[in-house]
Amino acid sequence: MTATKSASNGDLGGASAGKLPGRGRRVRGCLRANLLVLLTVSGVAAGVALGLAVRRPGGLSAAEVQLFSFPGELLLRLLKMIILPLVVCSLVAGAASLDPAVLGRLGGWAMLFFLLTTLLASSIGVGMAFAIQPGAGAADPSLAKYGDQDGVPGRKEVVDSFLDLVRNIFPSNLVTAAFRSYATVYEEDKKQNNTGLVSVAEFMNETESTNKAVLMEPVGKEVEGMNILGLVVFAIVFGIALRKLGPEGENLIKFFNSFNEATMILVSWIMWYAPLGIMFLVAGKIVEMEDVVLLFTSLGKYICCCLVGHAIHGLLVLPGIYFVLTRRNPYRFLWGIFTPLATAFGTSSSSATLPLMMKCVEENNGVSKHISRFILPIGATVNMDGAALFQCVAAVFIAQLNNVSLNFIQVITILITATASSVGAAGIPAGGVLTLAIILEAISLPTKEISLILAVDWLVDRTCTVLNVEGDAFGAGLLQVYSEKKMGQTGNDDLLEVKTEAVAASKAEGVEEGSPLIKQNGPAHLEANKSCEKESVM
Ligand code: ASP
Repeated sequence: MTATKSASNGDLGGASAGKLPGRGRRVRGCLRANLLVLLTVSGVAAGVALGLAVRRPGGLSAAEVQLFSFPGELLLRLLKMIILPLVVCSLVAGAASLDPAVLGRLGGWAMLFFLLTTLLASSIGVGMAFAIQPGAGAADPSLAKYGDQDGVPGRKEVVDSFLDLVRNIFPSNLVTAAFRSYATVYEEDKKQNNTGLVSVAEFMNETESTNKAVLMEPVGKEVEGMNILGLVVFAIVFGIALRKLGPEGENLIKFFNSFNEATMILVSWIMWYAPLGIMFLVAGKIVEMEDVVLLFTSLGKYICCCLVGHAIHGLLVLPGIYFVLTRRNPYRFLWGIFTPLATAFGTSSSSATLPLMMKCVEENNGVSKHISRFILPIGATVNMDGAALFQCVAAVFIAQLNNVSLNFIQVITILITATASSVGAAGIPAGGVLTLAIILEAISLPTKEISLILAVDWLVDRTCTVLNVEGDAFGAGLLQVYSEKKMGQTGNDDLLEVKTEAVAASKAEGVEEGSPLIKQNGPAHLEANKSCEKESVM
């Protein structure tokens, strides 16, 4: 199949189409340029229609649902397969190609942007929950049916959660970090309980109907799920070390670079499968869904708070910040990343969306590879505006359900812990619900109410993930503009500083733009744009 690289592009294709005479050709050119986005939009709409058509009273059997969801599951598997090589190779190559001072400045600005926008999102969440009062007067018996404790994280101290975060930053085994993370869990201390010793009150099992006290002790465990934070940190530090090695390290840098480029080619192939996969992911969820009307009547206000909050932050606040700082059209930027946003909606996973996001910000929004491949993996791991927002709504909602009126200090505690715990949330479906327990523990609210949040998380998590990845993309877009401005002032883009030997070698070999090892003479985004216009054989 032959397709233009700019097929997912919102503007570049239009430019090339403009050269062709005739209105019909222009329209055709425009359609071709936006083909992937149009296919994705159609995929989402067709998924909703297909799901509603296949849905039947009494529901499909588990085997039927599994079969029906198969094409969607395939997309998820393909995206997950790419995450590990993509994150590690892009960060090693990115960190190795930048001067540590530049790296620090770039990372510093990105972290500041991520922190401020997450705090803003948390404030919107708290504000929405106080305005709409989703839990007020809700001693509603209809909520009781969602009281299933399956999937609710066990109780643990706030300090344990933060220590686990730090432990995960330093994985003890890199191979296990590729599929397992560290977590502290509390288990019954059988030895002490047998002696009949008196309990420690805070670890009393809440579900216990009797007053019998049980002694609990913290136990460190390896749990399922990639420790992406540890891998991100290792890859950055390893990249810096490679750079320090000088000429000796260059072969390895080239290796990671080539690995990265090859992975991105795989991504461009997977991209064409995304519309079909998203269609079946959406349809599969609609088929599986229980009674939505009932869910909305009991928890509608909570859902509304989260969705409206996500819409405000994603459609007004983030675009507003981007516009104020760059004077560029933020909605055009959003159009350029429509396919990854739809993928985030379909998969509920920032990590799975990362490969497509990298491809689209580079090709459609002119973000240089140096920036996107360094900032986006970090953003997908630590920046979760959507998660922080919904966690704040959930915390205030649960307080209202329990008739706890929150004071100023508790509100500030919610804002700070939500911002911090969103860093620890994994970019996987329901990753934010697991860290919600930290906030509830911090303001002494019962964690068992998380079961209510879980009941509607399949929906809230989708808009939450869209917002999570949108924040990362805007961060990369802002850094791109910052680096262009800096280059305009100094006539030298220090972000693009590279090793001279590698440059010479790649120039001699006629390697294309794209490698962080290769010095670019023009503005980075123009170089990136050029690559969008090239034809590629799929
Ligand atoms: N699903 C979200 C993500 O992948 C995490 C969350 O549950 O908040 O970004």
